[in-house]
Amino acid sequence: RMSTYATTNPATGETLQTFESLDDAGVEDALARATAAFEGWRAATPAERAQALARTADLYEERAEELAATITTEMGKRKKEALGEVQLAADIYRWYSEHGPALLEPESLDVPGAQESLVETEPIGPLVGVMPWNYPYYQVARFVAPNLMVGNTILLKHAGICAASALLMEELLHKGGVPVDAYINVFASTDQIATMIADPRVQGVSLTGSEAAGASVAETAGKNLKKAVLELGGSDAFLVLGDADVDSVLDIAATARLSNTGQACNSPKRFIVPRDVHDRFVAGLTERFEGSALGDPADENVDVGPLSSVSARDGVVEQVRKAVEQGASLHTGGDAVDGDGAFMRPAVLSGITPEMDAYSEEIFGPVAMVYPVDSVDEAVALANDTSFGLSGSVWSTDLDRAKEIADRLEVGMAYVNEHGTTLPGLPFGGVKRSGFGRELGKWGMGEFVNTRLRRTS
Ligand code: NDP
Repeated sequence: RMSTYATTNPATGETLQTFESLDDAGVEDALARATAAFEGWRAATPAERAQALARTADLYEERAEELAATITTEMGKRKKEALGEVQLAADIYRWYSEHGPALLEPESLDVPGAQESLVETEPIGPLVGVMPWNYPYYQVARFVAPNLMVGNTILLKHAGICAASALLMEELLHKGGVPVDAYINVFASTDQIATMIADPRVQGVSLTGSEAAGASVAETAGKNLKKAVLELGGSDAFLVLGDADVDSVLDIAATARLSNTGQACNSPKRFIVPRDVHDRFVAGLTERFEGSALGDPADENVDVGPLSSVSARDGVVEQVRKAVEQGASLHTGGDAVDGDGAFMRPAVLSGITPEMDAYSEEIFGPVAMVYPVDSVDEAVALANDTSFGLSGSVWSTDLDRAKEIADRLEVGMAYVNEHGTTLPGLPFGGVKRSGFGRELGKWGMGEFVNTRLRRTS
């Protein structure tokens, strides 16, 4: 499959710029450079690598307006959210610059029978990163910052629609002090990515994106005995208990579902509520969705921007149409807005049964599904009746009870009275078909390393 690298403004449909893809000689050149750079980058001290990350963080902050405007144009993120994402990326680079050196300190184990049992954390070599368009800076930062800190080098393939932000990230890392060949942006095709993963010089691959892309990359990695980290989709449950303050929870639910125009792996997609709250919850979401201003993501008064592309929008509209055809109730929205932009009206669905596609598919757009339940056990069973296992949340004023219920969710991240909080020091990742491996925090520095023992008797 050929990937094309171009900037098309999803608010207008206008293609603004196209970018030249790598040819096969370019692939070989990138592999050779990332391999050659590894020796020098791993030999730099942790403090030197940390300093490059700290400078990169500063540059993200200095150029925040430009960075934010770039993703608003290329994938339609609202300006305020775009600035928030730039800050999160800066925070991640800074977190690893501050905590990385200590995390790389060798550990002496108190194990008898020898004078010393020392465990060191070493880099393993060039890595391939394949990243998606929904959080162009953040997704890259959480793979790149820990791995550059460790001393690995990186070949980064961004989504075809994020070429402009991909080039900006490369520029800022290099200006921050990361050697030019230790971080290489590659405008590569999926075949070329497979070639890179299979190449003996590459030691691992990390992908965030769809299950199909993850399966394809992991297949190549498996065949070639390479480590893979996958962060795929989710269909997060949002469990409202009978004692929750429904109005304040509704405000949070609506905002969370519409954030990034619903295009987040860990967006709450399934709202599971007590049966006697169901109609009020549906009406509350409907009212809030209808009251959200749809429009140009560069306009600060707008609440919901376009989806990332017309084809992404059409896919979500089709999922809603099919749900209704299969018998679900549509309370508002779900239709495309006329014009060249990738807009759709946010939708609220209820009455979804296990036979319907919407029950088991991820809906990657501004669509809320509300389910009534008669007991906590039923709520937990429904929350877990999905192939995904990214995150989930429980909403209640009884924290002890809520924590017990949160412990029963089959997810990588369980929240009580919040949903989807992402901070540099917290682990991020899922179970089941949401993928494997962890990003961020100390865990993100433990995926592509040689945990090396040196024992002396
Ligand atoms: P993809 O998974 O296709 O794209 C993510 C990245 O993977 C892009 O860089 C893409 O490149 C690349 N890619 C795709 N196929 C391959 C492959 N076989 N080998 C190597 N790289 C590959 O996401 P889509 O844009 O198609 O979105 C589709 C769905 O994916 C969404 O509806 C959502 O369900 C899920 N998704 C999940 C995300 C998450 O945060 N977990 C983020 C984005 C999407 P290119 O752009 O060049 O095709």
